[in-house]
Amino acid sequence: MNNAYSLDMDTAIESPIKAGLKWLFLDLNSYFASVEQQENPHLIGKPVAVVPSMTDATCAIAASYEAKAFGVKTGTKIYEAKKMCPNLICIKADHSRYVDYHHRIIEATERVIPVNKTWSVDEFDCLLLGRERKYENAVKLANDMKQSIYDHVGKQIRCSIGIAPNSFLAKVATEIEKPNGLVILKPEDLPGRLLELKLTDLPGINIAMLTRLNKAGINTIEGLYHTSPKQCRAIWRSVQGERFWYWLHGYDVPYQKTSPSMLGHSRMLDPKSRTLEETRQMGRRLLFKACTRLRRKQLYAKHFIMKVTFLNGQRWVGHRDFPASQDTFLMMSFFDAMWQQMCLECFGSTTPNISNRKMIFLKISTLLHGLTTDEGITGDLFDLDYQKQSDNHIKKKNLITAIDGLQEKYKKETVWLGVVPETLAGDVGTKIAFNRVPSKEEFWG
Ligand SMILES: [Mg+2]
Repeated sequence: MNNAYSLDMDTAIESPIKAGLKWLFLDLNSYFASVEQQENPHLIGKPVAVVPSMTDATCAIAASYEAKAFGVKTGTKIYEAKKMCPNLICIKADHSRYVDYHHRIIEATERVIPVNKTWSVDEFDCLLLGRERKYENAVKLANDMKQSIYDHVGKQIRCSIGIAPNSFLAKVATEIEKPNGLVILKPEDLPGRLLELKLTDLPGINIAMLTRLNKAGINTIEGLYHTSPKQCRAIWRSVQGERFWYWLHGYDVPYQKTSPSMLGHSRMLDPKSRTLEETRQMGRRLLFKACTRLRRKQLYAKHFIMKVTFLNGQRWVGHRDFPASQDTFLMMSFFDAMWQQMCLECFGSTTPNISNRKMIFLKISTLLHGLTTDEGITGDLFDLDYQKQSDNHIKKKNLITAIDGLQEKYKKETVWLGVVPETLAGDVGTKIAFNRVPSKEEFWG
């Protein structure tokens, strides 16, 4: 058993009965759409879809309850949504506004009870203490929180609250009644109302995991409930399965063991390889390695930093936040966007016309921060663009798994995205052409 991730039965797990109603989870309903309705009163009561760009080819990243009544949901293509709901109003997403509301909602909540952890822009949890764990007191707290948000942020901002012996079940409880729900899962009643849900309603059960569960003969939450920790560990192929079983049974098992806070690589560039293009390729290579390590450690990152140091001593640093991910393709797209940004800021063009022999850089670093072991419970809304376009996502995941497998087998960087600087060519075997991540010019090699 891997010590770093083994469940420590003596100290980590609090029994359901002892924990009682220990956690409260708040999930904002149709968050982006509600904020838009709050800001623009003419949208109240209307079917609204929030979109990343004003084109029918894009997907809704949020839908108001009025739009949901027509079947429009997060992820629906806009050209389809307009067929379902001809009066649909599309509003371009304004992320800074949603972040601003997020802080105001936290403030309103904290007039009632401190927030323990923010899971995403529209989800957070609170730890209940002492008398707050009594059923009537917990219900009162939840209602006071809703009232405080209503009074101090706005009447359009509605939320579902779940209360349970652990934060996982409290989150699951928010799925049972929407909008404006309040569901309490008492440990002695489990599985109780969990049986109203589908397996894929549980955070962490995606289509790939559902397939594994089905293969093991588990098709319902009831079926999953009547397994054992050991069986779940085998199905998940990691200790996360065991943790999942304990959560489902109301044990308060911590989300994660101590894990490194940062993972990444820096490289002083070889004096012959300090050109624009070779530095870019080195950066991609370092990031690729970091992503492989991330997956090997079963971790997810939430923050990416790219740093470059120029030969003249100047530095450029770029940051990017995202929902927990270990997807190489996603990280590479961040790297590419950040590289273009650096070029724009430092050379005045995203594709500067600089000789391929001009030595410019001294050092490059790609660092992944905000590491966590849990993927399931993080930002459901921001996930969309990248993760819920499921077919593509599963294909990518399979490809990444295949790459990791090859690397594991041959113990060196057998597979590589795009081309590699000439000086490194000796390390490299197969080149794989992917349709999105590398730019076209990378395939001349
Ligand atoms: Mg929500």
